[in-house]
Amino acid sequence: MADNGKNRSEKTHYDAIVVGAGVCGIYQIKRLTDMGLDATVLDSAGDLGGTWYWNRYPGARFDSESYTYGYSFSKELLEEWHWKERFSSQPENLRYLNFVADKFDLRKHMQFNCRVEAAHYDEVENLWRVRVGDGRELTCRFLVLGLGLLSIPTLPRLDGMDDFKGQSFHTFYWPHEPVELKGKRVGIIGTGATAIQVIAEIADKVEDLVVFQRRPNWGAPLNNSEISDEEMADIRSRYDEIFAACARTPGGFEHEPDRRGFWEVSREERVALWDKLYDEPGFGIWLRNFREIFTDEKANAEFSDYIADRIRRRVKDPAVAEKLIPFDHGFGVQRVPLETHYYEAYNRDNVHLVDIKDTPIERVTEKGIRTSDKEFDFDIIVYATGFDAITGAFDRIDIRGAGGQRLRDKWQDGPSTYLGMFIHGYPNLLMPAGPQSGSASTNYPRGIEFGVNWCTDFIAYMMSHGYNRAEATPEAEESWTAHVAKMYSTMLMRKAKSWFTGYNSNVEGHEHGKIRYFVYNGGGPKYVSRANRVAENGYEGIEFAPGPVTGTGTRPAAAAE
Ligand code: NAP
Repeated sequence: MADNGKNRSEKTHYDAIVVGAGVCGIYQIKRLTDMGLDATVLDSAGDLGGTWYWNRYPGARFDSESYTYGYSFSKELLEEWHWKERFSSQPENLRYLNFVADKFDLRKHMQFNCRVEAAHYDEVENLWRVRVGDGRELTCRFLVLGLGLLSIPTLPRLDGMDDFKGQSFHTFYWPHEPVELKGKRVGIIGTGATAIQVIAEIADKVEDLVVFQRRPNWGAPLNNSEISDEEMADIRSRYDEIFAACARTPGGFEHEPDRRGFWEVSREERVALWDKLYDEPGFGIWLRNFREIFTDEKANAEFSDYIADRIRRRVKDPAVAEKLIPFDHGFGVQRVPLETHYYEAYNRDNVHLVDIKDTPIERVTEKGIRTSDKEFDFDIIVYATGFDAITGAFDRIDIRGAGGQRLRDKWQDGPSTYLGMFIHGYPNLLMPAGPQSGSASTNYPRGIEFGVNWCTDFIAYMMSHGYNRAEATPEAEESWTAHVAKMYSTMLMRKAKSWFTGYNSNVEGHEHGKIRYFVYNGGGPKYVSRANRVAENGYEGIEFAPGPVTGTGTRPAAAAE
């Protein structure tokens, strides 16, 4: 249940304000309040859950194994929660996050329907002034941003979108009330990870489905299954082992890359591995593969050909199959969508693929969509057109640091951070899972838990050392950002038209070619060891200023002698 304003009080100052009540914000508020800080979470949504609150489209589900996605911080929680599917669906994921919030009584610290419009650093008072959509100005010492990586949906810029008389929505805003699909003619724009889930799920439920594809993606089977009581008992008994494996692997999953060299084994051995991986659950096909597929054009091309053949085997009409095979990038250089009978959906008589490279969309009309070839009538248009990823949510808030510098301006050509957690010029602002952190390219909650723990320890350190202001040095930020950028140079993904490189054709300035270095590509273990080393070395790269943490309602337990 949403708070409907009941957590809003006359109170205007907090030790910490966390923005975002998703996977990150939920755990962050727990850690901060456990430590005795007076903290609150603000979220523009009507309730908690972030991604899993918003994305209610049919087919929305994890492609991380459910039991590697959940929080690991509480043994009790791990004992109590039963994942029902290996890749759990959105309603269940949202129930899980609500279960966590209720179990630890976190909801009382959360304020919903509170859009943060601005956050300005006040140099004189050394605090953040946070303007909320409801007209309030709140202040805090620490501003912790858990804004999500993919939380700002973007629509295409097509003529006539407001003229359409039927129902239309971006997948992110799929209505909360049930959408009647039976007997409906549906058009969907996009063939990314989201569209691939929607298409497969609704193909047999609608009267007619037309998919408008600009560029195909490389999909591979999710191979989902139910988790029985016995399996769950086994998973519970192995949680330590499972999380240890996630901590060991670059992607934060149980999937470990094949350490053999691609060219050191025979073609037969390679194909044997791929045949096995194709039938296994989850991201194995991407992450248990040879490491060369990420860096070596020839190796990537050979594997892409293998997957192309798999697509050809699954789609009956050879012409349609060819259209579903990506032509401009190899497998895995963009985020790989995992699917359940996606390709088979095109074998149905009521599903049609329109290649809008050949016949571009001219406009949306009152009745549907007109391409250069014909007019399609629809009852529903679904925009599965992606997100202003990673920095979009930062750009939507008027964030100003020391000297009034706007973050939007500073990051105009791409983010620059220290460890993905700090920004020079923005004191006491923390991002547990920010751009260029270890979270963005890994199994997100694994990165988040580390980031939240690290940031919480950092705040505790400041308090116990009597510091009230901390800021990354320009040198530390410059060197981290250069390090993140350098890692792209060896990766095939640097050329991809993907949110990993900051591409979004619907946002001005985010066109392909203007690469922005969004994600840390070194993998979880390297990131964790680097961040831990920074902490062990007294938080090198951070400049602290002394002084008590003043103006707070309560004295944090962590600061008490
Ligand atoms: P996306 O991967 O960015 O895909 C957007 C799709 O819309 C692309 O096919 C794109 O074509 C198309 N598109 C955008 N603008 C268009 C336009 N103006 N005209 C025609 N086509 C247009 O977005 P997404 O599918 O929402 O996925 C984003 C990310 O969310 C994923 O990469 C993944 O990280 C996450 N996700 C995760 C899950 C999961 O955990 N299971 C599920 C869904 C999504 P172009 O490629 O030509 O631009």
